[in-house]
Amino acid sequence: MTRTQTSEDLFDRARRIVPGGVNSPVRAFGAVGGTPRFMASGEGPYITDVDGNRYVDLVCSWGPMILGHRHPAVVAAIEEALGRGLSFGTATEGEVLLAEEIVSRVAPVERVRLVSSGTEATMSAVRLARGFTGRSKVVKFAGCYHGHVDALLASAGSGVVTFGLPDTPGVTGASAADTIVLPYNALDAVEEAFRTFEIACVITEACPANMGVVPPAEGFNRRLRELCTEHGALLIIDEVLTGFRVSAAGWYGLDPVEADLMTFGKVMGGGLPAAAFGGRADVMAALAPEGPVYQAGTLSGNPLACAAGLATLRACDDDVYDRVDASALVIGRAASDALAAAGVPHRLQRAGNLFSIFFTDQPVTDFDSARTQNAAAYRAFFHSMLDQGVYLPPSAYEAWFLSAAHDDEALTRIAEALPIAAKAAAQAGES
Ligand SMILES: *Cc1c(COP(=O)(O)O)cnc(C)c1O
Repeated sequence: MTRTQTSEDLFDRARRIVPGGVNSPVRAFGAVGGTPRFMASGEGPYITDVDGNRYVDLVCSWGPMILGHRHPAVVAAIEEALGRGLSFGTATEGEVLLAEEIVSRVAPVERVRLVSSGTEATMSAVRLARGFTGRSKVVKFAGCYHGHVDALLASAGSGVVTFGLPDTPGVTGASAADTIVLPYNALDAVEEAFRTFEIACVITEACPANMGVVPPAEGFNRRLRELCTEHGALLIIDEVLTGFRVSAAGWYGLDPVEADLMTFGKVMGGGLPAAAFGGRADVMAALAPEGPVYQAGTLSGNPLACAAGLATLRACDDDVYDRVDASALVIGRAASDALAAAGVPHRLQRAGNLFSIFFTDQPVTDFDSARTQNAAAYRAFFHSMLDQGVYLPPSAYEAWFLSAAHDDEALTRIAEALPIAAKAAAQAGES
């Protein structure tokens, strides 16, 4: 058994003063049980916890660490920036460089504004879309996550067109009232919503990966584009997770649908807090100080975060994407083979180098089908992998993240752990 005493002690102390002991809910292991591991360090594809256990990391900070932990070029860029000062509250050269890098990679992004989290990016993009169109209603899809923005936390209801009911206390009916939640991949529902309401914007994950990986049906994003254009609404494509991860230009590089606004985060911060929203020049011109829609941030475009993000993007060459793509193929297949051999019902779903395994035998096309999973089977699978030194997402509703640093040794460790974990899942799934 793995030693967990130090993690346990820290978790006890944390729970006394931090709600749930964590600063972001999924870290608490609520869905899988057991003691959350407190990490002390990372190197390449590995992370090491405070008890000295080393794991192959399949979370990669939920995406940002596409180069692996402590990539030399990223560390050097941060150290160099560190030598010049931490934050000035003024414009800096690094912000221009990072913005230029983003604009040069993603064609629909003519202008960009830097912020510090994906949540801020989507919140600001929705505000801008409302300000630009002078309309209030926002269409979002159930199971798509856009950060913890009040108006975007609504996901209730699987009816054809349901008004968002707040999913969480603290979000008022008023802030969710202008949110229309539709089932993912359901174009007829989108068409009906456009016939019924005057809509400011449709926001969608470029390829949903926060309910597990649920690829858009062929032509889905393109049809959203057409409907928004026909009805004078803006299309916001959220690439916080997919951006610069699935290709140099993100999901746009694989499925080139032109959004009016796009949001980015995760990889573009290289592990530090940097995010962005951007898009059409005329829409972005409505943003303060050029236009009337207010948006600001004390630490926006922070010099260290810009340095880490720029170094990460510059290091993300074809070889990096080839490696991540290849590893995702190998590990997805190995996991699916192991589960099949153990007789565990599952679906491997892929979208570019994103993938996740659903512990269900039904096709997963939306949030309702994603929720048919066998939670007990995943819990057993997760803990067996953890005991064998592989750190999977502590939830069955997440993608598995690889990095270019996952070498043969790391991939072999994962592959060797899978059959044992699959057997554990088979046993748990039956009971
Ligand atoms: C992670 C994520 C966000 C929120 O980003 P934070 O930096 O956690 O606020 C928004 N949208 C998508 C698609 C994400 O995956």
